[in-house]
Parts: sequence; structure tokens; C-alpha cells
Amino acid sequence: MANSDPIYGWLETALATIKKANWYRQPKTITSQSGATVTLNGQSVVNFASNDYLGLAGDRRLIDAAIAATKTLGTGSTGSRLTSGHRQLHRDLEQAIANLKQTEDALVFSSGYLANLGTISAITNKKDLILGDQYNHSSLKNGAKLSGATVLEYDHNNLDALRQLLETHRQNYRRCLITTDSVFSMDGDLCLLPELLAIAKEFSAMLLVDEAHGTGVLGQKGAGVVEHFHCTQQPLIQVGTLSKALGSLGGYVAGSKALIDFLRNRASTWIYTTGLSPADTAAALAAIHILQAEPQRRQQLWENIRQLKSALGNHELVPSESAVLCFGLANPQQALAMGDRLLAAGFFAPAIRPPTVPTSRIRVSVMATHSPQQIQGFIEIFQRCFAEFSGSSNL
Ligand code: PMP
Repeated sequence: MANSDPIYGWLETALATIKKANWYRQPKTITSQSGATVTLNGQSVVNFASNDYLGLAGDRRLIDAAIAATKTLGTGSTGSRLTSGHRQLHRDLEQAIANLKQTEDALVFSSGYLANLGTISAITNKKDLILGDQYNHSSLKNGAKLSGATVLEYDHNNLDALRQLLETHRQNYRRCLITTDSVFSMDGDLCLLPELLAIAKEFSAMLLVDEAHGTGVLGQKGAGVVEHFHCTQQPLIQVGTLSKALGSLGGYVAGSKALIDFLRNRASTWIYTTGLSPADTAAALAAIHILQAEPQRRQQLWENIRQLKSALGNHELVPSESAVLCFGLANPQQALAMGDRLLAAGFFAPAIRPPTVPTSRIRVSVMATHSPQQIQGFIEIFQRCFAEFSGSSNL
């Protein structure tokens, strides 16, 4: 389509601007099964780019569960959960999530993104106030926009800033909702959950915490950051995904019976969309059983995280307490060049650039199934590349 097209020409102009800023992105094709090693554009690489923290997405037991459910129930659930799309398998998964999270109930959505959109927009409207951490995931931010509530952001993990906003604005609104990632997905640090809970209580606010990168990784039983901070029985709305440590697809909300019952009646991204496929549901259920039966996977993950952090901690490592390790670089060009160099050496760890994040970085996701040799190999090549790129000013 030519730039001169009076109606759609703006698309090409916008794309040219994106490319000029080094913000242009394209998917890379993986042709092998998910795992610590994948085939990317025909090259075998060690995978430090996935969110498959426990290495379950390629686990035989999840694959078998998905195949068995497909054979029994078919490929699609064929309708919304409130019409023809509900199966006992969905309920089994919801009960397993509630058991893991130690909540009264849970509700499974088609993705974590939809869980956030649907939950936030169901529990707040234009009479309400939403306060969100500046670094929150896109789904929390867009859920807030969709709700029609007044939305304010506080500086990342800055409790004084949050308190100030509450003191100024809380009294002008009916309900108030504070939203936060539990593990910040592009940094790897944690929210200050006990303090947030105390502030929420003081100002009569609800608190929604997104455990997408916490579930399966943190907490004694792998339930997430809520468990890590011993806040399991606190009044919280917990959202999460089935697509990261649980190796499947879908999202969920866990909380009180009343919350879940309300969402079944008011969350439009749950009511008006097709129920999760039998395969995805069964795979996630199998993953929760494995997560609970095999704590050694989580222990191995933390062993790998420690090994990487202790070797690379002095390389502009963004403060992290999770399986996400980010290393800052001066600009998008440096980050891209570093990502390319790592890839050429057989290690897949992508450059993350604005507008996704405020500053450019290499993002490393650690897996329980990375071998000591793979971790050591990555450390060596990373140190070599980092010295080269962070020292060069002409990139
Ligand atoms: N929340 C956070 C913090 C995430 O990182 C993601 C996925 N990138 C989501 C929600 C969305 O989850 P899903 O991929 O299941 O839509």
C-alpha cells in the first residue's frame, strides 16, 4: 500500500517511524518442542527467552493429558462457559488453582490478559478510583482503562507516592482498587505486598495482584509471591496465567467465593468468550499436580537463578528476586546488537526495548531444566559480549 493512499497510507508512515526508532519487532519462528534448547530459525539455541520456568511446556505428562482430554472431549469447548462450553474439567482445574492458592474459589479465563481485563472492569466503574504501579503489565493498565474508573499511576514500588495519591483522592470515589504485578515482568523485582495490604486496609481499597511470573516460582509450595510473603489468608484478588510456569494457555482469578460468583455474572471477558479448550485445561491441571508433587523442580530453578546471579550480578543487573534477570544497556541499538551476538553464539535471550520498557535491556528467563553446562556457557559468552557492548559508545 503506497504512502499516498489517503485512508490507509498512515500505516506505512507509522511503520517507518517505528523502524527509525529501532522499535520494530517481528516474531521469530521456533520449530522444535518447548524446552531449555529450541530450534530457532533453523539454529539450535539454549533458550533463555521463555516463561516456561519449570520446563513443563514440553513435559510428556502435560502432552499426554492434553491428548487424552482431546480424545475424550474434542478440540474445542464450542461455546461460552454459561452456554455449551462448560466441562467438569474446567471445574477440576479451578478447584486445583483454589487449592494451590488456598482461596475459597477460582475462575479460569482464556488468557491471563483476559482475566485482568474482565476482573478489573467488572469490579470498578466510573464512580471508582484505580491506582496502579507504573511498571504494571499492559493487561492491568488496559483493564483499568476499560473499567471507566479514574486511573492514576504511582511511581514504581513507591509507597509514599501511593499513600499521597490515596490521601488526596480516595474520599472522592466510591470504591478503590490498587493493582500491581507481583513479579514485575520486565525487571524481575517483587511488589511490596505486606505494605500494600496495610495501605489498602487503611484506605478501604481492594488489592489486585498479578501472579503471572510468581506462580510456580515463589512461595514454599510454589503458590507465588502471596505465599512468599505469608499473605495467603489476606483479602486479595489474585490473578495469574496458566501459560508461564504451568506450561499451558489460559488465565485465572483466585479469591473469595463471592468474588468468583460475581465475576461469573459480570466479567464480560469470561461470559462472552469460548471456554478454554479441553487440551489447555487438562495440561494446566496436570502442571499443577506436578508443581505440587515435585518441589525439587522449583529448588533446581532457584539453584540456577543463584548460579547466574552470582556470576553476572555486577553486569548492570536490574534488582531481581525472581526467575527474570534483566541487564541494562545504554540504548536499543546496543541491546539489539547484544541479543544478536548472543544468538550467534547459540543463546536466545532477547533485547527488550522501549516502548515495552523505559530503558533497553537483555531479558533472561531462567528455567529449572537448564543444565549446569548451559548456564556456564551462557555466563561465559554473556560476560564477553557485555564487556564489548557496554564499553562501546558508538553503537
Ligand atoms: N500479566 C503479566 C504480568 C504478564 O507478564 C502476562 C503475559 N506476558 C500477562 C498478565 C498475560 O498473560 P497471558 O499470556 O496468559 O495472556
